[in-house]
Amino acid sequence: MSVEKLILIKYGELTTKKGNRNTFIKLLVNNIKNVLKDYDIKISYDRCRMYIETNSVDQVKEKLKYIFGIHSIVVAYKVNNNTDDIKETVLNIVKNVNFNTFKVETKRALKSFEIHSMDFNRLIATHILQNIKCGVDVHNPDLMIKIEIRKEGTFIYLNEEQALGGYPVGVQGTGLLMLSGGIDSPVAGYLALKRGVDLECLYFESPPHTSIQAKNKVIELANIINKYSGNIKVNVVPFTKLQEAIYKNVPDNYVITIMRRMMYRIAANLCQKKNFKVIINGESIGQVASQTLTSMNTINSVTNMPVIRPVACMDKLEIIDIANKIETYETSILPYEDCCTIFLPKHPVINPTTDKCEQYEKRFDYQSLIDECINNIETITNLNKNGSNLL
Ligand code: ATP
Ligand code: MG
Repeated sequence: MSVEKLILIKYGELTTKKGNRNTFIKLLVNNIKNVLKDYDIKISYDRCRMYIETNSVDQVKEKLKYIFGIHSIVVAYKVNNNTDDIKETVLNIVKNVNFNTFKVETKRALKSFEIHSMDFNRLIATHILQNIKCGVDVHNPDLMIKIEIRKEGTFIYLNEEQALGGYPVGVQGTGLLMLSGGIDSPVAGYLALKRGVDLECLYFESPPHTSIQAKNKVIELANIINKYSGNIKVNVVPFTKLQEAIYKNVPDNYVITIMRRMMYRIAANLCQKKNFKVIINGESIGQVASQTLTSMNTINSVTNMPVIRPVACMDKLEIIDIANKIETYETSILPYEDCCTIFLPKHPVINPTTDKCEQYEKRFDYQSLIDECINNIETITNLNKNGSNLL
């Protein structure tokens, strides 16, 4: 008898999207292959699940925990459909587990298999009870033993591990994430990835007012969330001249509003150039003066591009929870300055008007400065999929 140890994957939400199911599954397969390039794997799949055969089950399982579109991951043992072989395999598996009570749940997908599910449950349970000191508990067992009898063989597995869920990354195309070194924007990026939006990042730097460490911190954050994508790039915009022109020409209380309007203009321009469908950022309603609803309106009015703010309605503590979970928090709190935090005005306006912004913006030729920013973007492509420390 041969017993094969393999990984079984159950899909996430994509199974509810009937028409698109094939596209989703194919993309998921591609994403998995991309992340597992360094491993020797064999993938097979149908409309309900995927099987990954490999000699490195444990390492591969770890990698799969970062892939959106997977609902649960199970290490399964595959044997032929012979009852005695199944009995023996189940016993060998559970012998190594500590438990007092158990339950067997059989799914007989292969209807020609001669023993019905309930009878098969009893048969396996009896075999376990005869060999191990334990009891059956159908309501709250310590150990759940699942058996699936299918055409291609019988799969036996214990606990199912919850995976990330969401949609396969890229199924919604690519969005442009405004990535700062703060806590919020990496979380916003992660949440967009979860809904299938792949990312390129946009970072505004103002050397010498902002340091190389601040830039490396942003690259590191991109690196960390790249575990969920593998395709992320960082576009670094040299923002110094434009920012200095703003400070020279605009009253103190409006500098942040106008600076953010410039950021949005540059982001929208890049989206058009690269055919990205959406801008994503880490704004959260009411967090700072530039994130009151009035401010957001005035800032957002420079573009018709849709802007998604995944953390808009979250409390800071909720955002921090996610940042901890995705391991960006420790990097985000490193104390390097951002171009939004240097020269912070004492009293930034909380109800800025578009009229006033336009009036101040007429004072200098911002368009040529914007063009210069865009023409001098540096694109960093060689992010490490495993998230390496660049600091
Ligand atoms: P924090 O987590 O401390 O709030 P933050 O990055 O959210 O930091 P905010 O000043 O609240 O900083 O900025 C709101 C959003 O604007 C950010 O989440 C980010 O999407 C975008 N942003 C701010 N500064 C930059 C920058 N230098 N480059 C790119 N995007 C930026
Ligand atoms: Mg913020």
